[in-house]
Amino acid sequence: MKEEDIRKRDVFDRYLKLVEKDVKDFFDFNFFKHIGCPACHSNDLSGEFIKLGFNYMSCNYCSTLFVNPRPPFEILNKFYSSSPSTDFWVKEFFMPVAEARRENIFKPRAEYVFKLFGDISGHIIGDIGAGFGMFLEELKRLLPENEYVAIEPSLEMAEICRKKDLKTICSPLEDVTGSDGVFDCLTAFELMEHIYDPKMFLEKVYSLLKPGGYLIFTTLNGKGFDILLLWERSKSVSPPHHLNFFNPKSIGLLLEEIGFMNIEATTPGKLDWDIVEGMILKEGMDLGRFWKVVAKELDSLGKKTLQEWIVQNNLSSHMRVVAQKPTIK
Ligand SMILES: [Zn+2]
Repeated sequence: MKEEDIRKRDVFDRYLKLVEKDVKDFFDFNFFKHIGCPACHSNDLSGEFIKLGFNYMSCNYCSTLFVNPRPPFEILNKFYSSSPSTDFWVKEFFMPVAEARRENIFKPRAEYVFKLFGDISGHIIGDIGAGFGMFLEELKRLLPENEYVAIEPSLEMAEICRKKDLKTICSPLEDVTGSDGVFDCLTAFELMEHIYDPKMFLEKVYSLLKPGGYLIFTTLNGKGFDILLLWERSKSVSPPHHLNFFNPKSIGLLLEEIGFMNIEATTPGKLDWDIVEGMILKEGMDLGRFWKVVAKELDSLGKKTLQEWIVQNNLSSHMRVVAQKPTIK
C-alpha cells in the first residue's frame, strides 16, 4: 500500500513537471484574454493568487473563482490535442487504473443516470468529453435500447469509442454541426472546469437538446470544503486545466440566463475530508490547530460524519448539476 502510494506520487510528480514544461511551450501570456465573471458576467472582481503564471480571480457577486486573463480557445485545444503532458496523462496515468475507475466512477455514474430516467428506450444520449467511452458503455448495459453518441475531441480516444460501437463525433462540442434539437440527454463529467467560454458551451448544449431534454454534469465547486481550506495549495486548482470553479449558486445563475429550468445543483462528494487529511498527515501542511486535531484524533466514524455533514450542507467540492430545457419555449 505504501509502496503503491510512493509510485503514484512519483508518476504524478513526473506529470506535473511535464505540465510546467508544456505551459512554457504552448502558452504565450501576451495573448491571454480578459473576461468578466464566467457565471454572472460581473466585472467587480478580486485578485486571489497566481499559480504557474496563471492569475486566479474571484467574483465579488457570485464567488466564482476563475483564471483571468485566460488562454484562447485555439491554444487550449492545441494543448489538449497534442501536448506531451496530455499524452502522459492518458497512457501512464489513466490507462493503468482504467478498470478500477470503471468500478468506482463510471458504473456509479451510469447507475445514477439510470435511476434518474428509469426504464427509457428510443432516446438519444450523448456524452461530451467521452474519453474512452466507459460511461456510455456502462449506461448502454443498463439501457440497451437507446442510441449513444460519444463527443470526444481527441483523435486517439474517439477511435477507441468507435471500436466500442459507439456513434462518435470527433470534435470539441463548440464545433459540432448539424445536430440541433437531436439529444434527449447530454452529459459532461468533470469538463466544465476546463472550458474556455462556459456560456458559449452551455448555449451549444441547449441548442443540441430536444425541448424537455436534460443536461447532467459534474464539476468542481469553488465553495467546497477542501478547495476553500487549501485554496491555491489545492491540487484541484491546477492550471492550465482548471479555469472555472463555479458554485451551486453561480452555476444556477448561468444556466437560468441561458434558459434552462428545473436546475438542481448538489454536492455528493466523498473525498473532501480524505483530501484535507492527506495534506495534513502525509504532506505536513499546516491548516491550523483545529484541523490537525481532527486529522489526528477523530475516529473513523467521526470523520465519516464530518463528510456526511459537508454533503448535506452542499459544501463538498464535487458538484453535480441537472437542468432541463423547457418543453415549450
Ligand atoms: Zn459572478
